[in-house]
Amino acid sequence: ESFQEMNLHPNILADILHHKYETPTPIQAQGLPISLSGRDILGCAETGSGKTASFSIPMIQHCLNQPPLRPGDGPMALVLAPTRELAQQIEREVRAFSRSSSRNVRTSIVVGGVPMHEQRHDLRNGVEIVVATPGRFIDHLQQFNTNLSRVSYVVLDEADRMLDMGFEPQIKEVMNNLPPRHQTLLFSATMPKEIEELARAYLNKPVMVKI
Ligand code: AMP
Repeated sequence: ESFQEMNLHPNILADILHHKYETPTPIQAQGLPISLSGRDILGCAETGSGKTASFSIPMIQHCLNQPPLRPGDGPMALVLAPTRELAQQIEREVRAFSRSSSRNVRTSIVVGGVPMHEQRHDLRNGVEIVVATPGRFIDHLQQFNTNLSRVSYVVLDEADRMLDMGFEPQIKEVMNNLPPRHQTLLFSATMPKEIEELARAYLNKPVMVKI
């Protein structure tokens, strides 16, 4: 299936083509129709497979389909990634695919090692999408700079690395406090039993996508 056949919002399709993506990679061809349908995904994929677009494109589409944020609302979509570098890479791709929709789909990056205040300002102003490392995101939650009440699309990227880095408590803190109706996409290069347990605890009838 081509990008043109996926019933994407015209703004997103324009941004994809502008970004010079002509045909979906295997994980995108497999995963996009599933995530666009609203189902949970357990993705076994390495970096380089095109997985970032496979969760970013449906995430932006999801945000465009939600009622607008109201004052005090937290983000509609949250991506958790193990490192600042990966979060930056993801944020760049999310921005690329939301260029034409940037008035309705604002993105903020929330990572450690930089001052809190600019992030606090963005979060409090309202952003539809947050790409974050788990520790810093929890810091903002604890300071009431943001909240989970509107989060309905969650991505755990490189989940095996996040667990290796000791982020399990932060991941659980987020996952245990989401609103009941939400879509979850979990990506991991490896599938050790800790990841299987995370998937069993937090995914709802996931479709396994493996490449
Ligand atoms: P990722 O696995 O998400 O880190 O993506 C790996 C690289 O492939 C990135 O440089 C992407 O920009 C590129 N890429 C992802 N999807 C496509 C596509 N459908 N066509 C061309 N390049 C792509």
